[in-house]
Amino acid sequence: MSETTTRGELEPDESTLNRANDATAHADSFWAAARSELEGLPGGGLNIACEAVDRHVRAGRGATVALRWRGKNGERRDFSYAELASLSNRFAHTLHQLGISKGDRVCTLAGRIPELYIAALGTLKAGAVFCPLFSAFGPEPVRVRLSKSRARVLVTTALLYQRKVRAQRVDLPDLAHVLLTDSGGAEPGVHSFHALLDAESDAFTLPFTAPEDWALLHFTSGTTGTPKGAIHVHEAIVAHRLSARLVFALRPGDVYWCTADPGWVTGVSYGIIAPLAHGVTLVVDEADFDAGRWYALLEQERVNVWYTAPTAIRMLMKGGTEPARGYDLSALRFAASVGEPLNPEGVRWGQEALGQPFHDTWWQTETGAILIANRHGQELRPGSMGRPLPGITTAIVRRRPDGGIDRLDAGEEGELAVRVGWPSLFRGYLDDAERYQACFADGWYLSGDLATRDVEGYYWFLGRDDDVIKSAGHLIGPFEVESALLQHPAVAEAGMIGKPDPFAGNIVKVFVALKPGYVASAALHKELLGFARTRLGPAVAPRELEFIADLPKTRSGKIMRRLLRNRELGLPLGDLAVLDTDVTPTC
Ligand code: ATP
Ligand code: MG
Repeated sequence: MSETTTRGELEPDESTLNRANDATAHADSFWAAARSELEGLPGGGLNIACEAVDRHVRAGRGATVALRWRGKNGERRDFSYAELASLSNRFAHTLHQLGISKGDRVCTLAGRIPELYIAALGTLKAGAVFCPLFSAFGPEPVRVRLSKSRARVLVTTALLYQRKVRAQRVDLPDLAHVLLTDSGGAEPGVHSFHALLDAESDAFTLPFTAPEDWALLHFTSGTTGTPKGAIHVHEAIVAHRLSARLVFALRPGDVYWCTADPGWVTGVSYGIIAPLAHGVTLVVDEADFDAGRWYALLEQERVNVWYTAPTAIRMLMKGGTEPARGYDLSALRFAASVGEPLNPEGVRWGQEALGQPFHDTWWQTETGAILIANRHGQELRPGSMGRPLPGITTAIVRRRPDGGIDRLDAGEEGELAVRVGWPSLFRGYLDDAERYQACFADGWYLSGDLATRDVEGYYWFLGRDDDVIKSAGHLIGPFEVESALLQHPAVAEAGMIGKPDPFAGNIVKVFVALKPGYVASAALHKELLGFARTRLGPAVAPRELEFIADLPKTRSGKIMRRLLRNRELGLPLGDLAVLDTDVTPTC
């Protein structure tokens, strides 16, 4: 590891980092070095919020804008690091006044409003566990998550409380306090967020939090089944911070925008913690997706680093490259994507429309931070997720019946596994130790995603283990089939499934949503099948194709192929537009 010039300003020496990556023994010292960049708490403690906010204030950077909030109605508010430190202190005080202690769960159910960010940081300072809930969930998924997490406090708005929580409070005996961000407390157990904060001092002495203390509870997206509650600890910030530097090359003075909602892990790991840990300015847009608004925001805020998702990229692509060209996006230095496979078409579109290609990154709720990426300054391979970050050892493996694993060679298809030992690996599934144990074998974390590795160490996503199909002896992943179809100008989105077939086991079927201006017809149907066949070859090309208005997606925008499978089998599909993943009868 290279010299530390000033405390907290350690610059990674690439060759050392890469050497460390080659050997597990060195991975420990690699992470220890990354850890030593943090300030920590006296006595060996560590607190995410302290590293993300307070340390900048102590270092004299309190006046830097930490959070630039853009309201959906045109409002704009800046919060400096000093203000964020003070407001989160008040929130931590408030929690202690309400009797909240270490390990208690504090949930938020709100759009991207400043209070959510204050609550997240204040919760961590108080030693409690922050658990964000996506504000678009209906009452049932909200109840299930509040109940599963045994939330003691909920921060929400009056409207969301009225619509989604109030009638269910009898079923939530642990939920002692609800804090409304936009109204007073009208009934017992309901308080005004702002009145409570105003009554508190902004001086707060952090309680001791150990690196292994619980800090975050994130529910997974529910793409493959009922969402699981993944537990993360304060130590995770070591990986949040380092990965943001290695992948995005974040540097002081940067303006950074992550479009993920903090109701999901990306919106917390990279929408709150990592950028603040680097002392950059985080842009938060309260409004929902709107292509024109997004381009304008990139231009007006002079965004340098942008982290978004394939679902958003696909929506931008629907409008072509022309709309983006009307904006000055010259400040944009790096664009990245996560959450789903990023088709090569999306990478290239970024280059054409924005002047920057999208860099794919791979990680999961469980991994807590980016583990594989097309990093800044390294060769980008469109269609590949990139290479493992320094400090991360990955492999393609096959599970053996005896519970062990075999490591596979370059070019072989298997499950993506990561050697345990990185700081943001989840520490458990809430109340499900058995399921947690099943994720590990021989010291490796098994991701449930199928991929291959090429000889240069780039990883290529095939699909989730239950989305990949076997057809006439071939293993076929949705990624390559969908990517091929997306190259056709008429195709906005494509979803592949295996349709049971008595001879082949499965045949490949695709569902296709068309771009505006294209109409489903027998001729287009034939053309698309031919187009795919030319690109994919007869063994992999879809045998069936069906037009569909919209593909079913999770609340976070991921294509739910299992619902397409259900549709094929004649099972109920649920409401395509707004799926609450854990109440859909087919889940
Ligand atoms: P659940 O575990 O509840 O089914 P989920 O797996 O979608 O939901 P997340 O943890 O939000 O929940 O998503 C992680 C998954 O998203 C990965 O396991 C992978 O399948 C997919 N994913 C994330 N990034 C990429 C990427 N760059 N390329 C391909 N797939 C990705
Ligand atoms: Mg998952």
